[in-house]
Amino acid sequence: MTAIDTVAAPVGGPTLPQERRLVTEIPGPRSQELLARKAAAVAAGVGHTAPIEAVAAGGGVVVDADGNSLIDLGSGIAVTTVGNAHPRVVEAVTAQVAQFTHTCFMVSPYESYVAVAEALNRVTPGDHEKKSALFNSGAEAVENAIKIARKFTKKQAVVAFDHGYHGRTNLTMALTAKSMPYKSGFGPFASEVYRAPMSYPFRDGGLSGADAARKAISVIEKQVGAENLAAVIIEPIQGEGGFIVPADGFLEHLLRWCRSNDVVFIADEIQTGFGRTGAMFASELFGIVPDLITTAKGIAAGLPLAAVTGRADIMDAAHAGGLGGTYGGNPIACAAALAAIEVFESEDLPSRAREIETLLTGRLRDLQASDPRIGDIRGRGAMIAVEFVVPSTGDPDGTLTSAIAKACIAQGVIVLTCGTYGNVIRFLPPLSISDDLLHEGLDVIAAALAAH
Ligand SMILES: *Cc1c(COP(=O)(O)O)cnc(C)c1O
Repeated sequence: MTAIDTVAAPVGGPTLPQERRLVTEIPGPRSQELLARKAAAVAAGVGHTAPIEAVAAGGGVVVDADGNSLIDLGSGIAVTTVGNAHPRVVEAVTAQVAQFTHTCFMVSPYESYVAVAEALNRVTPGDHEKKSALFNSGAEAVENAIKIARKFTKKQAVVAFDHGYHGRTNLTMALTAKSMPYKSGFGPFASEVYRAPMSYPFRDGGLSGADAARKAISVIEKQVGAENLAAVIIEPIQGEGGFIVPADGFLEHLLRWCRSNDVVFIADEIQTGFGRTGAMFASELFGIVPDLITTAKGIAAGLPLAAVTGRADIMDAAHAGGLGGTYGGNPIACAAALAAIEVFESEDLPSRAREIETLLTGRLRDLQASDPRIGDIRGRGAMIAVEFVVPSTGDPDGTLTSAIAKACIAQGVIVLTCGTYGNVIRFLPPLSISDDLLHEGLDVIAAALAAH
């Protein structure tokens, strides 16, 4: 065992000093020590973005073991949307831990699980009769949505889209588009999964939503056949694939085709859900009401929870005992989710996301005006991305993108990259971040761009 003398970690949450503060190089000595232990003890396949040892977080910052305070533009991948260690979440979780930690909902049901299902049925798009089931992770929710759709339609095939991301389990790897790093060497993959072209306005020649949908539907009809197709699964705004916002009408046309062909339309809102895009759910931005919605990430402020919510007739298709799991809808995660959902509504966080959109896109467009390497700025709410290109050709510039991201982290700003071509920097700040920190984060990005 390695002995490390410990300093008392600061208490997290919104009372942490809201500042970028670098007292060592990143990584500092304590962080380096942890990363050495990580390299020796943790499987190499589990990577990391920021080379720090996190010890506290809240508002818009993450504090490391060396005393550095980094601006958080990632929210642990769109999870701590209400803010890290939000006081209401801390209070609810602490109370629940002291009461009971687990009974297994399938053994001895408890109220908070039912209350989360009721809340999800209420806040998701559409006023039709809905039901929900709770799980542990996004991938597990996606797996279950597919199970339910297959059982309901008595069909097997599933269509996912170019650039789509749905998780790292076997079925969800099959649904995910990108080989490296998500799939390479991990096959064989689940069968009866097919891929259709996505509407990608920046790279598909600006096809209209209707034309892009016609193209996708033609591929589906020719290569799969509606009579074999159980479900179409799509992220209304793609996350890992590069924050790709489909052209208006694309999702609507697809949904209409699904409705007239007895195909379940599943919106994977795991990254876009819970206020992230300026609406409670991104589907609302496109005026669509999906049959099923998968949620996770922002749902419970960091506690592991995921859900499938949707049309009661579809959700009830699976027989008793066919859905569930030991931990799904764990009472501590449910307590966190109920607190988080209350915060989304009482603090009107979707409108805060829209303010963040205005600030981020304004600053980024200013940068773009004098920097042709910024090919595209897109996204909604607090889910905004920049796609970097080689100006002469428009080709993706993944090298520049990773250099910029690395430089930002070294300067105390946590940013994440994404995109099929690795040439997108995405901004997913917690909605609790201040405008000052957002501006400072963008100053750092501007300086990194100027230096590269
Ligand atoms: C993150 C993500 C998943 C997988 O969620 P996990 O909790 O990591 O299993 C699935 N779909 C989308 C759109 C995601 O962003």
